[in-house]
Amino acid sequence: MISEERKSEIRKNLSEIFDNIEKAKCDDRKVVLLAATKTRTPEEINFLAECGVTHIGENKVQELMDKYDAIDKDRFTMHFIGSLQTNKVKYIIDKVSMIESVDRFDLAKEINKQALKHDLVMDVLLEVNVGGEESKSGVEPDKALELAREIAALPGLRLRGVMTIPPICVDVEKQKEYFRRIVGIFNDISSAEIENTKMDYLSFGMSGDYEAAVSCGANIVRVGTGIFGARDYSKKN
Ligand SMILES: *Cc1c(COP(=O)(O)O)cnc(C)c1O
Repeated sequence: MISEERKSEIRKNLSEIFDNIEKAKCDDRKVVLLAATKTRTPEEINFLAECGVTHIGENKVQELMDKYDAIDKDRFTMHFIGSLQTNKVKYIIDKVSMIESVDRFDLAKEINKQALKHDLVMDVLLEVNVGGEESKSGVEPDKALELAREIAALPGLRLRGVMTIPPICVDVEKQKEYFRRIVGIFNDISSAEIENTKMDYLSFGMSGDYEAAVSCGANIVRVGTGIFGARDYSKKN
């Protein structure tokens, strides 16, 4: 159950976020607000549809599977946004419409294999480790174009753009530097005009920096805490 109080809190947060996105845009492009729904219940997630949210993203395969049946799938487009083990692709291939976190060729090959098996073409984003942090997933920036070409050669995938999780910066200007770097990589791949790609998505920006991200050119922002409040991991696992 989700209380009226909780509903109005989520509704209020969302209306502020939608407003802030509009204000941060410096053109008339469409920006997708993707709700990052880890640790949230299906009831909370389904409520988002009533507040104008069209896209949701899960970052763990098991959690996605656990919630899948209870999620109102007719009302949402679901993306996978977390790091993905090759042997788990088979569980999500027919459940999500985009995998945002493709960062290596063996993962792309497995997505290709599973996609062909299901007679579908999976939209994917190339995840780039724009800060070069060892702890983070993502392809190194100077290998991004090469991996994009390799992905494009696989018929079961269609490359739609780039995604990144930059290092956490207190300084907005520093953060924007990372954002401009991912935009540069996006532009390099786009201008290479690789066949079988349709480069139209830039996914970066989370609760703390989605406005800066939008002002730098993001058209998917992935927001969790900003919509729902702080996560409580103690209830899970
Ligand atoms: C959780 C998550 C987000 C959103 O993080 P918040 O700080 O809660 O907005 C964005 N992207 C990915 C990949 C995530 O796992």
